[in-house]
Amino acid sequence: MTRKIPLLQAHEEGAASPGAEDLLRILDSLDAAVYASDMHSYELRFLNAYGRQQWGEPGGRKCWQVLQEGQSGPCAFCNNPQLLDEQGRPGPAAVWEFRNTQDGRWYQCRDQAIVWSDGRLVRVEIASDITERKALEDALKASHQRVEKLAYRDELTQLLNRRAFFSVCREQLACRRSAEPFAVVLIDVDHFKSINDSLGHAAGDQVLREVARRFRAELRSDDILCRFGGEEFALALPGNSLAAAAELAERLRLALSSRPLAYAGQRFDGTASFGVAAASGDEVDLDTLVRAADQAMYRAKRQGRDRVCTTSGVE
Ligand code: GH3
Ligand code: MG
Ligand code: MG
Repeated sequence: MTRKIPLLQAHEEGAASPGAEDLLRILDSLDAAVYASDMHSYELRFLNAYGRQQWGEPGGRKCWQVLQEGQSGPCAFCNNPQLLDEQGRPGPAAVWEFRNTQDGRWYQCRDQAIVWSDGRLVRVEIASDITERKALEDALKASHQRVEKLAYRDELTQLLNRRAFFSVCREQLACRRSAEPFAVVLIDVDHFKSINDSLGHAAGDQVLREVARRFRAELRSDDILCRFGGEEFALALPGNSLAAAAELAERLRLALSSRPLAYAGQRFDGTASFGVAAASGDEVDLDTLVRAADQAMYRAKRQGRDRVCTTSGVE
């Protein structure tokens, strides 16, 4: 059996319709602001108890004087025209979300044009407070952004992480022209374990941050530098040939080895080994390129570290 609202039940059973006093009682009991304003003169003709408590008595003032703050005319965002059809008659309701300029709270507004008893067009709005929902939405958005940042940035160096490196490289490769070369440089800091062992893990962290800073300073914004893992970095250079990438790798090598590193008043030398690979043509396979750069980097290690080695025969 369906439950009936007493007022409607009384209405259906032929009891007297609610009078003006009861209708006002209903409007004043609502947990939402309800107002009616003249669409031509903006005079606020009705404001229910919820609205009066929030914005005060209308007192013959205009809607924008009562409901908004610091305005010398109608609201720039007034949607009155949207509430009328092409013939200027009341159209369908408009629903939107709005942050009130006076109380700073968010409202979901349902607006409708109606014809008042004197024949004038009046805008009726029901505005329910959705501030808490908005705050939750904002918190959720911020947490999504944080998670996204965590998923793509290395926390220690703020460089892209390995996963982001592959994703950005694949995007770049997808829109590259086939004649354009694409180079990858793999970099591994030499004897990094000994820095950790002699000066501590915090010193190692500091060195990784400094290495990232020095490399970044040598690169352009569209070069893709990432922390590949541990004390390894990877650099992708869209549009660079093997020779150009090797030249840039040499600059990075010098940026690290030509000036000592420092931690807690101690100065020490830091070097890295570099492996460079490049490819061009219709199909460039990123995994193959990274593997080739890795092999070249290990060759640099075997040959004594602090050097740049290139693959042969890839380009
Ligand atoms: P090689 O010249 O052959 O590359 O020697 P290596 O000592 O640099 O290489 P190895 O792979 O033996 O050691 C790498 C060390 O890097 C081991 C690991 O504890 C350290 N490491 C990895 N990630 C981090 C990090 O985030 N912070 C610090 N402080 N150390 C790290
Ligand atoms: Mg390593
Ligand atoms: Mg190493």
